[in-house]
Amino acid sequence: MKVDLHCHSNVSDGLLSPAEVARRAADRGVELLALTDHDDVAGLAEARAAFEARGLRFLDGSEISVSWRDDASFHVVGLGIDPANRELCEGLKSIRDGRDGRAHRIADELEKIGIHGAYEGAARYAEKASIISRAHFARFLVERKLSPDVKRVFDHYLAKGKPGYVPHEWASVEDALRWIGGAGGVAVLAHPLRYRVDRDELRVFLGVFRDLGGQGIEVACGAHTPEEVQECARLARHFGLKASVASDFHGPGESYADLGMTPPLPDDLVPIWRDLI
Ligand SMILES: [Zn+2]
Ligand SMILES: [Zn+2]
Repeated sequence: MKVDLHCHSNVSDGLLSPAEVARRAADRGVELLALTDHDDVAGLAEARAAFEARGLRFLDGSEISVSWRDDASFHVVGLGIDPANRELCEGLKSIRDGRDGRAHRIADELEKIGIHGAYEGAARYAEKASIISRAHFARFLVERKLSPDVKRVFDHYLAKGKPGYVPHEWASVEDALRWIGGAGGVAVLAHPLRYRVDRDELRVFLGVFRDLGGQGIEVACGAHTPEEVQECARLARHFGLKASVASDFHGPGESYADLGMTPPLPDDLVPIWRDLI
């Protein structure tokens, strides 16, 4: 079965509407899909309707940003959540509110290096979204010809240590896992090798994550090399976590991988979706 349990629509920082994401996934052969917009559940009903209209199975999801220790952050994907759960919705709203303050601070920092109107510019790219994220700033900076593409714009302007970077306090790991569990979902660590922590710290985090009730880890990621898939598989085995499959698709031409375009999952791992469908 072709599975993709991590992607974004224009409800957060993707380029396509939730229905367009669902139809594109179906066209590309995905049989089980989860939409996982950042810190929001607003696109799920639309995506579900479009995907189920093709006779395919859909899981409700969201990708939640969490802070860890001094200034690290991780992304936790909740799968199989009830999008109407009140505590989850309130928690996600508190993160979205914090994101707007962050967006203003990013714009203030960019102003200092002579880039004017960045908040308004990024907001134009977030027209249908409930958040303004760094991806929206990246699109604005590419439009201003400050960088040839959104990947390089992050490296030069938005990543830690660069002029447009601002530290930010996200949800706590405890809160995110409580919201996901309380809404009937399972928590999965997203793209494990894409954080600014060393491998020792990643392992410490995974131990805490598992002990707090985290159940899964993305192993077959669109951005992973075969070696990285194997490394994540070892982490899954070591910590007794189930494995997920994730393109992290944001839009045509903007992501490492298109919907459903993920490496195979090693046979011995337990798929996270086994108990969800
Ligand atoms: Zn992420
Ligand atoms: Zn993502």
